[in-house]
Amino acid sequence: MPKVLGIIGGGQLGMMLTEAAKKMSEHISDVVVLDPTENCPAAKVGAKQIVADFKDEKAIIELASRTDILTYDIELGSSDVLKTIESKTEINPSPDTLEIIQDKFFQKSFLSENDIPVTDFVKIDSLLDLEKKIKNFKFPALLKVRRDAYDGRGNFKINSESELKLSFEYFKKKKTFLEKFVDFRMEVSVIAARNTKGGIATFPLVENIHEENILRMTIAPARVSTEISKKANQVAIRTMQVLKGAGVFAIEMFVTKENGILINEIAPRVHNSGHHTLQSSKTSQFEQHLKAILGLELGDTTLLHPTIMYNILGPQGFQGKFKPVTIESENVFLKMYGKTESKPKRKLGHFNVMAKNDNEDISSLLSKVKKLKNSVIIVPAN
Ligand code: AMP
Repeated sequence: MPKVLGIIGGGQLGMMLTEAAKKMSEHISDVVVLDPTENCPAAKVGAKQIVADFKDEKAIIELASRTDILTYDIELGSSDVLKTIESKTEINPSPDTLEIIQDKFFQKSFLSENDIPVTDFVKIDSLLDLEKKIKNFKFPALLKVRRDAYDGRGNFKINSESELKLSFEYFKKKKTFLEKFVDFRMEVSVIAARNTKGGIATFPLVENIHEENILRMTIAPARVSTEISKKANQVAIRTMQVLKGAGVFAIEMFVTKENGILINEIAPRVHNSGHHTLQSSKTSQFEQHLKAILGLELGDTTLLHPTIMYNILGPQGFQGKFKPVTIESENVFLKMYGKTESKPKRKLGHFNVMAKNDNEDISSLLSKVKKLKNSVIIVPAN
């Protein structure tokens, strides 16, 4: 019997999950999303929508009552509320896994206890505590908020002793932890999946380029040696073995100057750095997530063609409706997220540039991206 899928969050990730679900009609009959924005991207591609906050207890309970299997495109849902409905609805990843990941300090402690490499970190309870503990860290160091932070918004880089008070007060009363600054060589990620039967599959290592803490571009495969990509893949598999959650997880890592691998953070969901799989792989990360939570055999993750994903972000200094974006170029795939308004740095869409043949390497794809990005401009609608 096909199931009704519920998703907490109906942004672009929920939208692409809905599109993947529509192609799996023998397993999924309908999709219902919970999202505070009326007519959210997922609703625009056919999902039914409950308009409410991600943490709205009544709305989560309603979503569970209308669906057979629950998942999320955002890690902000309340794990406490999810735990209360766990006996009635299948939830994947489980609220226990979500709870570990939602608190970055718990997440790092969990990884470290399981011998998975992370940078040095320590819990901070007060300004005095910070002043004491910073002595074991060199400058710069990062003060990070433990919960509800993304795109670098919860990080404060402390450059010197004089910034200690400022950093602590910056996060007001939020719980924080201190982290050693990694002078990394590259940021990379592995999109990994674990199905409800314990089967694990990973997509090849990709390289992530951020601008102002926001992912700008993903290069698949990452420009590293086979040895490094093997090492990163092993770290990802070990993480999936200990985490035990079902679904797709994005494991973001640093490659250090000494060619070591450190996990920066894990997202318990499909991820921006996996969007290239829409064209570069037989199975997209969205299809893989659905296969994983439905307990189906995981799909083929082979990278068929080198591909670069480039994010289309709202430009600075403009908020409002914008003209439709188009790209006409062979082996370039544009995906807009159906958002009506642009806001500075808002993710509005992305395009994937795929290699046409074996002669086309990453550097020629990069030149193509450079040309294309200048033609994809967000301009106000009249
Ligand atoms: P986060 O939101 O914690 O993933 O951090 C956003 C970005 O900040 C990452 O993609 C890195 O570029 C940078 N970052 C986070 N943690 C560290 C660290 N310990 N050392 C150096 N850079 C970091």
